[in-house]
Amino acid sequence: AASGSNKIKNAKLVLLGDAGTGKSSLVLRYVKGQFVEFQESTIGAAFFSQAVAVNDETVKFEIWDTAGQERYHSLAPMYYRGAAAAVIVYDITNLATFARAKKWVQELQAQGSPNTIMALAGNKADLLEARQVSAQEAETYANENGLFFMETSAKTAINVTDIFYETAKRLIQAQ
Ligand code: GDP
Repeated sequence: AASGSNKIKNAKLVLLGDAGTGKSSLVLRYVKGQFVEFQESTIGAAFFSQAVAVNDETVKFEIWDTAGQERYHSLAPMYYRGAAAAVIVYDITNLATFARAKKWVQELQAQGSPNTIMALAGNKADLLEARQVSAQEAETYANENGLFFMETSAKTAINVTDIFYETAKRLIQAQ
């Protein structure tokens, strides 16, 4: 039988969002299948690599986990410029982080590259009792702004593989 044309596509992916929303935890869950309750803050940015197969193609993500602190904001363009994908993370239990996520979307729309695939992750979806942002509100926002949306939990692993897989799928579809 003919072997499939396994094309490999390298794709830079950047995580953006407030400190404490769970960016590092999402990457750790995705790349290593782990979760730690007291994740240390990222200084500047950290880099990970993860391959994902979509049908007969492979997307090799170069994942940049950026620090969410405002003092690192000036570094952000270095990471999102030329990024094939951006995952913008907020914490469903913290309304201010959702507002901040919207700011990131605006910044990317104004200064990023127009074909960057944007995903919105409402993280800490395991903490339902403390919810401050409804899924409906986030979904509507995402639809209106050309992002796709999922609620995730780095703690329980819900939708973590899925959001990266969906991003990879969209990257392949867009090429
Ligand atoms: P970052 O600053 O955005 O990289 O956030 P971290 O990954 O450092 O996570 C901040 C805190 O939230 C840590 O104490 C994590 O253990 C916790 N955390 C991250 N993701 C989740 C999640 O999905 N559920 C819960 N309950 N806690 C989480």
